[in-house]
Amino acid sequence: NKFELLGLNDALLQAIKDMGFEAPSEVQEKSIPILLQEDTDMVALAQTGTGKTAAFGFPLIQKIDVNSRKTQGLILSPTRELCLQITNELKNYSKYFKGLNTVAIYGGASITDQASQIKKGAQIIVATPGRMQDMVNRRLVDISAIQYCILDEADEMLNMGFYEDITEILSHTPSDKSTWLFSATMPKEVATIAKKFMRTPVEITV
Ligand code: AMP
Repeated sequence: NKFELLGLNDALLQAIKDMGFEAPSEVQEKSIPILLQEDTDMVALAQTGTGKTAAFGFPLIQKIDVNSRKTQGLILSPTRELCLQITNELKNYSKYFKGLNTVAIYGGASITDQASQIKKGAQIIVATPGRMQDMVNRRLVDISAIQYCILDEADEMLNMGFYEDITEILSHTPSDKSTWLFSATMPKEVATIAKKFMRTPVEITV
């Protein structure tokens, strides 16, 4: 099993087996060993359907400290549907990680309910930028201990006008975190974000 060569631990390998994934996809093969080995920034050019959720999800899950209830990983994604999809995938991937909680935060649903889910302890938050920014502003979520920030479908998020929200959110996270940016295309705006918020990212293309 080629997944074993990437450095993933037994809990992830078992979940991968359960899901029936037979071999890593190209983006997974390229990103996972790097993200597991070092705390580095990464820019990955990858379309939807390439397995990019697992490309960032597997290393993220393996790096979370489940003995802490602090929010350590933040994934920003353009839409509610994507948020829920990513959250679902991460829950599948992490089913053998006892005490690992992933919570979805998005607009159009009760902010009180989402705040109470976060209060119970969410090491990973998957959020749309608008609602996330709102909750940060209202002090309903503490992102001061974020170690891993993933910008998923960065080009889409910027197309939808989330630049301000994203930069506001990032300004509340520690400067020594790792940022992993995934995008299908690399327009000027995405390059600007990468330049402004990332430190010599490793670049991969699939
Ligand atoms: P994504 O590009 O992350 O939206 O993934 C597309 C679909 O491929 C999802 O349904 C994943 O569960 C599935 N998938 C991801 N990685 C693999 C893999 N290595 N082998 C088989 N299916 C996969």
